[in-house]
Formats: sequence, C-alpha cells, structure tokens
Amino acid sequence: MSSERNANRRVIIVGGGFAGLAAAKALADAPVDVTLIDRTNHHLFQPLLYQVAMAGLSPADIAAPIRKVLRHQKNASVLLGEVVGVDLEQRRVHARDDRTVHALPYDHLVLAMGARTSYFGNDAWREHAIGLKTIDDAIEIRRRVLVAFEAAEREPEGAERDGLLTFAVIGGGPTGVELAGALRELAHFVLRRDFRRIDSDHARVVLIEGDDRLLQGMDPASSDAARAQLEDLGVEVRLGDMVTGVDAEGVQLGDDHLRARTVLWSAGVEAVPLTRELGVEVDRGGRVKVKPDCSVPGHPEVFVVGDAATLEGADGRPLPGVSPVAMQQGEYVARLIAEHRLPEQRAPFRYHDKGQMATVGRRRAVAETRRVRLKGFLAWMAWLLVHVWYLIGFRNRVAVLLNWTWQYATYQRGARLITGDRLGAHRRPKAADEEAG
Ligand SMILES: Cc1cc2nc3c(=O)[nH]c(=O)nc-3n(C[C@H](O)[C@H](O)[C@H](O)COP(=O)(O)OP(=O)(O)OC[C@H]3O[C@@H](n4cnc5c(N)ncnc54)[C@H](O)[C@@H]3O)c2cc1C
Repeated sequence: MSSERNANRRVIIVGGGFAGLAAAKALADAPVDVTLIDRTNHHLFQPLLYQVAMAGLSPADIAAPIRKVLRHQKNASVLLGEVVGVDLEQRRVHARDDRTVHALPYDHLVLAMGARTSYFGNDAWREHAIGLKTIDDAIEIRRRVLVAFEAAEREPEGAERDGLLTFAVIGGGPTGVELAGALRELAHFVLRRDFRRIDSDHARVVLIEGDDRLLQGMDPASSDAARAQLEDLGVEVRLGDMVTGVDAEGVQLGDDHLRARTVLWSAGVEAVPLTRELGVEVDRGGRVKVKPDCSVPGHPEVFVVGDAATLEGADGRPLPGVSPVAMQQGEYVARLIAEHRLPEQRAPFRYHDKGQMATVGRRRAVAETRRVRLKGFLAWMAWLLVHVWYLIGFRNRVAVLLNWTWQYATYQRGARLITGDRLGAHRRPKAADEEAG
C-alpha cells in the first residue's frame, strides 16, 4: 500500500458496505482522491444473505467486487486490507495487508465499518448459535441445515432424530422472521421429495423472541400479520421467552429446554471492535456517538456513518441500523467533504424514512410506509422489487430475478450444496470480526 500527496484532498473511507460505497460514489466529481479500504474484496447485499443461508441464491448473486463497482471512478482507488487502528491526532489510518501494517495519511476520514453479531456478553453461545452477517456465516448456516436433514435421514425414529429436525431461530426481527419462514419453506416445499426415510415437512421451526411481539421496529399490525403468516407456514412462534442458555443440544428457556440441534442467532448486532479503540464516546453496542453532522466530537474531519455510528433521529430515538440510513449518511458526509463545509456551515443529517418491510416467504410479507401498510402478496411484490432494485450490479439483478422466477415456478432451490466439513454439525470458520476483536 502507498499513498502519494498531490493537490487534491485525501479522503480515506474504511468499509465498502452500504455507507462507505455510497460515500465513495457520491465523491465521484469532487476534487479529492478517495481511497476505500475493506478487508473483503466485495460489497455484500446483507438483506439477501438469508437466501444464501437457505440455499435460494448463490453468494455471487448478492455480492459484487468493490474494485469493479468503482472501476470507472477515476478519483477512487481500492485497497484490500484490514484497518487495525486510527491515530486521530496524527490523522493516519493503520491498515494491515497480509504482511505489513501501513500508516496512511488523510485529510478527511469516513469510518463505515458496520456491525457484527452480538451475543450480549454470552460469547460461549457463539459456537452453537450461529449468526448471519457474512457470506461465510450464510454458507455455514446452509451447511448445518442441510447436514441436519442428512443426519436425520440416517437416524432411527426417536428423540435424536426429533432434535435434528428441530431448528431454533433466536430473535424475532426481520432476519429472524425471514430465516424462520425460509426454513419452513425449505422443509415443506423443497426437501420433501428428496428424502425417503424422513418426512422433512415434520421439521419444527421455532422462532423465539424475548419481547411480546415480532418486528419491534414496525407497527403492531405488521407484527401480528407477520406472526399469522409464519404460523400459517407452520412456524412455531414463542413470544416473551428469554433464552438463558445455548449448547450443542439446544436452547434453554428458563426452566424449559428446547431440543434443537441447529440454532440460528438473529437477536442482535454491535459495532465492530475498532470503534472502541478510537478513544471517543461509544454507546453500549460500541457505536460511536456522532454529532448531528455525523462527525466525531473534536474531529470535524472524521465521520462515522452507518451501523458503526449512533445518532438520534427526529423522534429522539436512535436511528435504526438499516441500509437506507447507512446510504443516506454516506451520501450526506460525501457532500460535506465535496463542498469543504466548515462545522458551523453544516446542516444536520436528516433521515428520510421510506418505510420498512420483511418477507416471510413466497407471497408472504409485510411492508409499511408512513401512509400505507401492506401484507401478503402485495407486500411480497413490493419486497421483491425493492430488493432487486437496490442490488449492486446488473449481473446480480438478472441472476436473482431468474433464480426467483425459477424457484417460483418449480419450488426448487438450486444452491443446496453442502461445502466444507460435510458431516461435522457445529464446526465453523472464524469470522473476520472475531480475528479483529
Ligand atoms: C442478515 C441481515 C439482513 C439485513 N436485512 C436488512 C434489510 O432487509 N433492510 C435493511 O435496510 N437493512 C438490513 N440489514 C442491515 C443492513 O445490512 C445494515 O444496516 C447495513 O449493511 C449497514 O451498512 P454499513 O455500511 O454501515 O455496514 P456494512 O454494510 O456491514 O459494511 C461494512 C464494511 O466494512 C468492512 N470492514 C469492517 N471492519 C473493517 C476493518 N477493520 N477494516 C476494513 N474493512 C472493514 C466490512 O468488510 C464491510 O464491507 C440486514 C443486515 C443483516 C446482517
């Protein structure tokens, strides 16, 4: 890695996710040199990760090489590397490649490193309750789910087989709802014809939520609609149940033990560990408490955007950790940088909330904007269109549309591949975050 000084201001962006990429693109015509650093070489469309986990899409359908996305942008270069520290006083980013740590100077810094799965201090659960944040996570979930059905096929009737055919999903937010619905569909529509000794339709999918309703961020009517659609699919929804333990045998819910050999975790995220090392104020989830212009207090040249930051919205509550917030913040700070705005000239960031949605399965979803609430087929169509629209890359859009049309017509899932350690139920690769942490 190297950095040469020239007349343009140097902008370093850490993270090529929704926020970082939006910032880089919005700087295309600005008189700056942009360096975008990411520890992966791809931008990942996380809202469709669950489809990779449930064998509906392939990883390449929902990811795009960052270098390719920015290849026509002459003022932007991409570095594959992991940022391991930031010297806010000296204005240097420390980035590690496979051998060396490099100190890269900046005039403006945009930190957009996103979040990682949080177990709220119960890190021992990580081994058995796998979260969904990266492509590796999705492939590992796919492996565990498919291996569980394979193992059940070999197992005689009884408690062990029942445990293999019970899938617990912890956390009733959009990801939990999507995973639970897709799991039931996989069992009911897709795998049923493939097995001889088991009836995959007997697979239990149990969605566990500690609160009294699903989809806390949405209107209670949407929560009820999502629950009804899940139950219609055969998902068991347990509300108000707090998880007190997770091990290889299943989930402890107070005095009750749910025997489930596959446990999926979608109960929470926290900022990546780097934010805690900046020496600035963070919230309990490690998110940097930024000023209304998304800058770090005392450092108007440093911005933190997306899931790595926390900022109150117009209603006084922290903005949600969703992609529209990340993209809008990325574009907003890019404008401040391009126009070289002094702190006192900056209008605060305003989030334009276009609404929320979650899909439950084929023809089942909930969607709401400030004016309209949809459920069922119409919500599902809206979900499909929005997700194809926002996918990065023409190839991905076409591939996803073709895949979904094929699945709709045939009930087939083309990506039912078991890769890696074929028979081991719980071994998983180390996530990049864990190494960083
Ligand atoms: C399974 C799942 C489903 C979701 N579904 C939805 C949905 O339906 N709708 C919605 O709006 N939002 C959804 N979200 C949330 C949404 O994906 C996030 O809010 C959004 O990705 C945040 O964008 P970001 O740019 O802050 O972070 P990210 O998109 O996570 O990008 C962070 C980037 O930083 C890189 N990085 C991290 N640390 C370092 C480092 N130290 N050095 C170099 N690079 C680093 C990462 O590799 C990554 O590329 C979902 C999230 C998940 C996990």
